[in-house]
Amino acid sequence: MAVALQRVGKRSLVLERWHELRESGGALSLFPNAWRALDAIGVSHKLKPLYHVIQNGDVTNIETGAKQSQSFAQKQDDGAEKGARVIHRKALLQAIAEELTPEAIRFSSKLVSIKTEQLPDSSTVAVLHLEDRTIIKAKAVIGCDGVHSVVAQWLGLGSPRHSGRSAVRGMAVYTEGHGFGLQSHQFLSEGTRAGFSPINKTDVYWGVSHYSTAKEHEMWHDPELIRKATLEDLLAEFPAEFKEVVRRSEPESLSWVRLNYRAPWEVLLCRVQRGCITVAGDAMHPMTPDLGQGGCLALEDAIVLARCVARAGTAKEMEEGMSRYVAERRWRAAWVVAASYFSGFVQQAPSGLWTRPA
Ligand SMILES: Cc1cc2nc3c(=O)[nH]c(=O)nc-3n(C[C@H](O)[C@H](O)[C@H](O)COP(=O)(O)OP(=O)(O)OC[C@H]3O[C@@H](n4cnc5c(N)ncnc54)[C@H](O)[C@@H]3O)c2cc1C
Repeated sequence: MAVALQRVGKRSLVLERWHELRESGGALSLFPNAWRALDAIGVSHKLKPLYHVIQNGDVTNIETGAKQSQSFAQKQDDGAEKGARVIHRKALLQAIAEELTPEAIRFSSKLVSIKTEQLPDSSTVAVLHLEDRTIIKAKAVIGCDGVHSVVAQWLGLGSPRHSGRSAVRGMAVYTEGHGFGLQSHQFLSEGTRAGFSPINKTDVYWGVSHYSTAKEHEMWHDPELIRKATLEDLLAEFPAEFKEVVRRSEPESLSWVRLNYRAPWEVLLCRVQRGCITVAGDAMHPMTPDLGQGGCLALEDAIVLARCVARAGTAKEMEEGMSRYVAERRWRAAWVVAASYFSGFVQQAPSGLWTRPA
């Protein structure tokens, strides 16, 4: 967001709660809409040479053994390859952050509350209270603070809903080369959906989504318990090559999260802007990861918001620009939240519910 704003001549200060750039989940898939956004902010050229387009993929039904294959990569008009690439989250954050001056990011700055203050000229400023007791006054605030956003709460948005599902993720490193080519593999089993994809020649990203259990939170903070439960409980019937990917995963890459989302009607109808304060990314529209679009939409948000406020000089113009951004993003985000939820629901449903008889 800060880079997109910088590109249209708007200076901003990023407040980050951690003392450094930190990611969770290891990697993510970025689809062509995300690459268009990264093109627009002048960052994609740093990442494309490192990460190649996934050429094809297959989906295997664990119970029946049936397998479907599909080709993904397409050519753009200029002959360049178009499609999804799986990239390290850290590389994405670094590629974006290095476009900013070091002073533009203030680390160890956890936002805890927001107030507003009326100025003598009757304009309003946001007063941000940080955990370390620092107070920052801002003409405009864009909450890009993720699924448990303080800014979203201040705007009156409810807490995200639990989808009833959770996901385990990790990243394996094959120093000798994994040999999977540029192909992704997905597996469906009753109540479980899993897959792995190459990131580059040595690294492989994998994930398993499943119905949440009451006991899983006991494992969240212990990587070896996560690995054991994944291999023995979730992937017991899965192919040996998938289990090997999990065995090879770096302990620090293993994580287990509940999958939350905001109901599409809340994205459409609830207040996501007050004056010059709004939200973007997961703070506005958290979604289940079934279409791999949460991060892609966060990048789209940045481009649209920057475009909408590019010409704003006064507080009133900034507020109007943010209103145009909200109007433009609501429908798009609500549809993708709904489509992601439905996609996960169908693919993980009990066998026979959505499948055609053979
Ligand atoms: C299992 C899983 C798989 C996924 N796979 C994909 C995928 O393949 N492709 C894809 O596009 N998306 C994927 N997503 C979704 C994607 O991870 C998110 O949509 C994306 O990270 C949202 O970006 P964001 O910047 O809005 O929020 P975040 O990435 O959560 O970033 C929020 C930032 O704000 C900081 N912060 C939070 N609170 C505060 C505070 N109070 N004060 C200061 N700083 C704060 C955090 O430290 C963090 O740096 C997946 C999600 C999950 C759970």
